[in-house]
Amino acid sequence: MTLKSINPYNNKLIKNYEEFDSKKIEVEIRKSDIAWKKWRLTSYKERAELMLNLASLLKTEKSKIANLMTEEMGKTILAGEAEIEKCALVCEYYAKNTEKFLEDELIKTEASKSYITFKPIGLVLAVMPWNFPFWQVFRFLAPNLMAGNCGVLKHASNVSGCALLIEKLVIKAGFPKNVFKTLLVSGKNMNQIIENPLIKAVTLTGSTATGKKVAEKAGSVLKKCVLELGGSDPYLVLADADLEQAAEACVNARLINSGQSCIAAKRFIVVKSVEEDFLKLFKAKMQLKKVGNPMLKEIDLGPMASTELRDELHKQVKQSIKLGAKCILGGQIPKLKGAFYPPTILTNVKKGMPAYDDELFGPVAAIITVKNTKEAIKIANDTVFGLGAAVFTQDTKKGNSIAQNEIEAGSVFVNEGVKSDPRLPFGGINQSGYGRELSLYGLLEFMNIKTISVK
Ligand code: NAP
Repeated sequence: MTLKSINPYNNKLIKNYEEFDSKKIEVEIRKSDIAWKKWRLTSYKERAELMLNLASLLKTEKSKIANLMTEEMGKTILAGEAEIEKCALVCEYYAKNTEKFLEDELIKTEASKSYITFKPIGLVLAVMPWNFPFWQVFRFLAPNLMAGNCGVLKHASNVSGCALLIEKLVIKAGFPKNVFKTLLVSGKNMNQIIENPLIKAVTLTGSTATGKKVAEKAGSVLKKCVLELGGSDPYLVLADADLEQAAEACVNARLINSGQSCIAAKRFIVVKSVEEDFLKLFKAKMQLKKVGNPMLKEIDLGPMASTELRDELHKQVKQSIKLGAKCILGGQIPKLKGAFYPPTILTNVKKGMPAYDDELFGPVAAIITVKNTKEAIKIANDTVFGLGAAVFTQDTKKGNSIAQNEIEAGSVFVNEGVKSDPRLPFGGINQSGYGRELSLYGLLEFMNIKTISVK
């Protein structure tokens, strides 16, 4: 089978990539395991030098990489460049801090010495999505290579060019061959890799449906997995919110990456008393966004990653309208060649509609009106997901308390959009998955937390 990279701006084929056969997959995994046996013995200093090389390489090759991402999945060139800067940052942060995070921990017992030491677990399979083709991979790669693990990447089938470029950059930075590699294989053929005894654990960033399949397979061979899955992040706009600030943050959080982000704002839960004023500001800001050729710096929204994904989103919009939602902006497929979808606002969104119950992975905002804060919290939690959330209020003490005690999600931001940060743990609860990436908590997911006791 071939994996196709298609430019969603003009639907033209960029390149076909031949899928690896079972034999090649097995040989490549074996080579990675041999590489790991040496890599795990390298010092943090050696690893950090290479990681810093990788950071500089990312910075010098930023525009070339951004170009490729834009071609393969349609993100705007400026967004692509910002993504690469963030990848360089994650490399620098873990180059600097991993040794400190993973220092041995002495624990006093009756033994002459007892302590905890953190040892790499081995080869980790990283199954990644196309939406942030570099960032999703680097937030796994940087901490894990620094910790002494090795990585086998199975990237989404539509971004094979990015997957191969990541492997190339890692080698160019000086990392030994096979410490981090790409396997070109489609999602359908992953069981063989998960079952391979040399693969010690799996991390998946992707949809909830795929998460269930990967967890089932990994469970059947007793391998740990971290699952970073879908979300339907609620943004609560309370009666005392600074509406200008809230509208600005909400629009940007909805339209990031043409709406194709797990932590994009998806449901806007607005208190009735400010609904009219908020909507006026929100709609005006949504209308200002320029949709077009993602290679141009003045464009805010490129196409979605494929026409199939765009059509799926449009179906959810049409179904929500059929069930009573009102479309006050967008909602029509434009007469353009690529996979474009316009910034869209649905109001009067209610339970039972796709816009309320499901993840809308595109530039469509679902507005849900509520009586008060109490109802806003209830509706925010009325979801199968639990990735991120945001609360807008000028009473930051109240915002903090709602964030800490009321909202069921892996992260809650007050008066700003949800974002990932190399220094903070990232992950979800419920159908958004389990486990964490980044920070000490992310590092510990794939370490053997080893107890040593000397009598
Ligand atoms: P997806 O269809 O689940 O694909 C994700 C990855 O899983 C791809 O590499 C895919 O390969 C692979 N895959 C598919 N079926 C598989 C199987 N049976 N076994 C093993 N791997 C399999 O997700 P997507 O549409 O690319 O990405 C969008 C979703 O990801 C959204 O739900 C979004 O919210 C979520 N996401 C979550 C986070 C987070 O951090 N929580 C971040 C970004 C995105 P193929 O391409 O070959 O099918």
